[in-house]
Amino acid sequence: MITLCPHCGGLNRVAVEKFKSNPKCGHCKQALLTGKPIEMSSAQFQRALDKSEQLLVVDFWAPWCGPCQMFAPTFSNAAQQIEAQYPQVRFIKINTEQEQAIAAQCHIRSIPTLAVFKNGQEIDRISGAMDLTQFKQWVLTHV
Ligand SMILES: [Zn+2]
Repeated sequence: MITLCPHCGGLNRVAVEKFKSNPKCGHCKQALLTGKPIEMSSAQFQRALDKSEQLLVVDFWAPWCGPCQMFAPTFSNAAQQIEAQYPQVRFIKINTEQEQAIAAQCHIRSIPTLAVFKNGQEIDRISGAMDLTQFKQWVLTHV
């Protein structure tokens, strides 16, 4: 499976069973799994869509959005819990205020919007925050 390094954005080919043994990036030698959401720019996200074979769970948010701030810890907790169990899932945050190009491309009309992408295609989205249980259940239906 091709996975993106959260530190340098480098692409790595990692066998799924190797994810259990804390794989390192072949480019920058840092850990590929951090248990944390990855903040991405439009360019980085486009590359992830084009190249990564992982399930990408994206939180489209903005700093001025109250519900987004309230949802942020839920997203982080879900990232930590689900990544530990399903390392093929990546949690990504996109700041729609900074990254307007990708927000427009993905037709983000309200925030927070949570979307799931597989093989470069959006397969599901939900607008509005959820609690941790609901959010994890929703993500896991796509794993
Ligand atoms: Zn790296």
